[in-house]
Amino acid sequence: MKREVLKFPDPRLRKKALSVSAVTPELQALADDMLETMYGENGIGLAAPQIGESVRLLVIDTRPTDEDGQPTDEGMTELERQVKQPIIIFNPEILVAQEKTKYDEGCLSVPGYYESVERSRYIEAKGLDREGRELLIRTDGLLAICLQHEMDHLEGKLFIDRLSFVKSERIKSKIKKSGYPTPQEVEEERAKVREARAQAKAKSTET
Ligand SMILES: [Zn+2]
Repeated sequence: MKREVLKFPDPRLRKKALSVSAVTPELQALADDMLETMYGENGIGLAAPQIGESVRLLVIDTRPTDEDGQPTDEGMTELERQVKQPIIIFNPEILVAQEKTKYDEGCLSVPGYYESVERSRYIEAKGLDREGRELLIRTDGLLAICLQHEMDHLEGKLFIDRLSFVKSERIKSKIKKSGYPTPQEVEEERAKVREARAQAKAKSTET
């Protein structure tokens, strides 16, 4: 079942989420709802607090899609390709984080806003999969960024908290004052960001 995605400044997004002691059928059903919600919103990741559930659970699928909407591995890094997606991960923990990188991030809980955020370029993370088995992920690229972004949600933290104080306050007060852009405007902004990313990628491979 598709669920409603909470938006900043909803206080439920600020709670530290609780660890899972065992993966129960109820938690599996929650993970399935989250995947449906994420795909329904054209997102690449979703954390349980974003649908009001205080659980340390993330779902992620950063694979690009072709014209028919089928997942491809085009443009993914070698490491990203080795990780089976979609990912369902309970109690995620980062074991190793190396080097820094910057990426224009967005968030389903802050629709229409994209800002450059610094994250680790390479990470190793562990957690439990949908069956409660140990899951180990070694990755870089967009998947590493996305994992770090989603893990922030489990601490009650949003990407707009990671900007400079001035920029962060400007965005927060703008949203509190005038709300969010319309779904159509959000879609237009998304298209622009996608285009800019594609151009940046073309440029970086031109040399
Ligand atoms: Zn987010």
